[in-house]
Amino acid sequence: MTATAEQIAALAEELVGILGDRGVTTELRGREKASVDGAKMSPILAEQLPLGLADIVAFPANAQQIAETVAAAVRHGVSVTPRGKGTGNYGQAIPMQGGLVLDMSKARAIVEVGDGYLTAEAGTPMVNIEQAARESGQQILMYPSTAQSSIGGFLSGGSGGTGSIKHGSNMSGDYVLALDVVYASPEASLVHVEGEAAQPYVHTYGTAGIIARATIALEPIQEWVGFYASFPTFENATSIIQQIGWLDPTPRLVSADLPTIANALPADTAIPKDRASLRAILDASTIEAATALVEAAGGRVEEVREGPQATVKISMLSYNHPIEWLQKSTDETYFHVEVSGSALVDKLDDLHQVYPGAMLHIEAQRDHPIGMLAAPYISPEAVYAGYDRLTALGVGFHSPHQWFVDHEVERTKALAASTDPDGLLNPGKIPTGSTVPTGTKWAGAKSA
Ligand SMILES: Cc1cc2nc3c(=O)[nH]c(=O)nc-3n(C[C@H](O)[C@H](O)[C@H](O)COP(=O)(O)OP(=O)(O)OC[C@H]3O[C@@H](n4cnc5c(N)ncnc54)[C@H](O)[C@@H]3O)c2cc1C
Repeated sequence: MTATAEQIAALAEELVGILGDRGVTTELRGREKASVDGAKMSPILAEQLPLGLADIVAFPANAQQIAETVAAAVRHGVSVTPRGKGTGNYGQAIPMQGGLVLDMSKARAIVEVGDGYLTAEAGTPMVNIEQAARESGQQILMYPSTAQSSIGGFLSGGSGGTGSIKHGSNMSGDYVLALDVVYASPEASLVHVEGEAAQPYVHTYGTAGIIARATIALEPIQEWVGFYASFPTFENATSIIQQIGWLDPTPRLVSADLPTIANALPADTAIPKDRASLRAILDASTIEAATALVEAAGGRVEEVREGPQATVKISMLSYNHPIEWLQKSTDETYFHVEVSGSALVDKLDDLHQVYPGAMLHIEAQRDHPIGMLAAPYISPEAVYAGYDRLTALGVGFHSPHQWFVDHEVERTKALAASTDPDGLLNPGKIPTGSTVPTGTKWAGAKSA
């Protein structure tokens, strides 16, 4: 339900009282900026943009103000779409019904760092959290390749990244220890949920409650190094990617690319042209073992770099990033599908046949690798037609071309029925049978 001009004006007046003049905007430029995310990565979504435009944007500066802002919106019957850094690539942060965009970027305080945990406000960038953990002799279990994104956005819209080989996804139950959430209630209040009770708010796009503050687990710090290797062929690299991922202590990240994708990455002497590239964040004690694996597979180690900046740089070339660099490097329009399973290594040739011109970017994981299969874009139907072929090859997949919550959908609906009875939180993101676009597979979906 879209809000009327009168509702928006009344809300704006109240929010200026809570957040001050600079904490609210109804200017078109600010509203447009707050209404886009990384959805343009998908040509299928890009063809449908703009999918919504905020009527008003608010910038709460702390958890209490987040609660007060949501309560004001609810009292005025205005929908609320939370926004971290806006890097989610499925359109999850787009205000499909207009209303209020709740920009968290000013609520970025690290509240507490203790033994085994860290508490931060929703808008805190993941890199700041990792740095605060490091200063206490600890590290976070995982962060996304979009390391500048917010903790609230990563928990609500993301799933994994650097650290996932050992710790799985942020939905695993070990990552989030506690949350302070805000429901669609007319009274401002922060609801503290811990352990199991916190998990239903993870990866559900803020539809059942908005995260104002999060407490995540920390582990003892390790000495990490950035490890670059190259190979004559991609098959050389894929033949050992999982073995490198299984080194003990477990690497934080192991990514590999075809020469064509590696050529599209930012120029770096450690990523030579026309060779397959493997990049890893390794525990320093495993450099020798990794080198032996690389050389036995016909590759060579290009460089080993020390320090946090070197390892974050490798993170920022993982997961969706190589595909984004590929898209930027050419006039050709590329789409991608998130894929998983041992078939990524065992049936690589067949996988590359699923779409004309297909190219795989691959990441080691604990059980089996995951990846992004990119190919020149033709039409939505051509993309969806490949899904059955992926299934026939035993490849798990997740469609990045739709914006609906696809994790624990029924649990999310049931929770939202009590926490958001009027459907004001990020409306349009919980699927109803008739709104699921063709070709979206829910079963066995593997998020990346
Ligand atoms: C090139 C590229 C690479 C990426 N790599 C990864 C990766 O390695 N791993 C990964 O998991 N993801 C990845 N992503 C997706 C995305 O960048 C991350 O998930 C990121 O952590 C999202 O954080 P954000 O602050 O940008 O969230 P946003 O995009 O702002 O929001 C994401 C979702 O969460 C909701 N939300 C935001 N803040 C809150 C809050 N406080 N409470 C409730 N709901 C909220 C939004 O409404 C939206 O639905 C990638 C995207 C791109 C474009």
